[in-house]
Amino acid sequence: MKISVLTLFPEMFTGVFHNSILKQAQEKGLVQYDVINFREYTKDKHNRVDDYPYGGGGGMVLTPQPIFDAVQATREHLEAGSYSSPRVVLLCPQGERYSQKKAEELAKEEHIILICGHYEGYDERIRQHLVTDEISIGDYVLTGGEIGAMVIADSVTRLLPGALGNETSSITDSYSTGLLEYPHYTRPAKFLDYEVPEVLLSGHHQRIDQWRRQQSLQRTFERRPDLLEQMKLTQEDEIFLKQLRENQDNS
Ligand code: SAM
Repeated sequence: MKISVLTLFPEMFTGVFHNSILKQAQEKGLVQYDVINFREYTKDKHNRVDDYPYGGGGGMVLTPQPIFDAVQATREHLEAGSYSSPRVVLLCPQGERYSQKKAEELAKEEHIILICGHYEGYDERIRQHLVTDEISIGDYVLTGGEIGAMVIADSVTRLLPGALGNETSSITDSYSTGLLEYPHYTRPAKFLDYEVPEVLLSGHHQRIDQWRRQQSLQRTFERRPDLLEQMKLTQEDEIFLKQLRENQDNS
């Protein structure tokens, strides 16, 4: 997979792309990150990539030309290789809210281009005529799209087969199953006065699986009940949730 990032601040990506699992994923040949400064594509004689908004008002707006040309160059370069038509993703607070489901969707692509905005935002024609997706990483406003692009690159990379070692797994992660993940414990079995739940020390795999499933259900019920509405639940799950609801009503 190839992840191209168009940004005015390429240095910001150095730490993220050169450490831990993202670094290893590149070394294993699973992903290639290409960080491009779209200022290099401007035709403005003063090297500018932004301008005042038509109609007045505060803030500067990113002009379409450097971004259109940078996307085009990235596409041409890749189409000479084996990559199919890329997904062109605009980072913006007005976009679709990012989710694990979206990460799973993007992880199936051969190539994604992430466009990082800055200042007041983008000329609307970028949104209308260049991009395939608009993504927001949450209901707040950042100074630029770089942190959002890092969020997407990280969450997509860890889903690529082989990216995570045996010590980490994305299959049971929160949101991957539709539920929040169950709690984890490690040695020692007793720390201060706090003990690990007995079932986890029992070696009884069926009981452990059942405990984990119930813990996941309970966590989701308590913290993110909205997720349960979208889940296909088993009869056993429904019975357990009914008990939780009854306990809640009685307390
Ligand atoms: N004026 C814009 C608005 O109200 O929609 C906000 C512009 S923001 C200061 C500058 C850039 O930061 C955006 O173009 C976008 O690339 C990025 N950005 C800010 N918040 C974001 C969010 N929640 N998700 C993704 N990108 C964001």
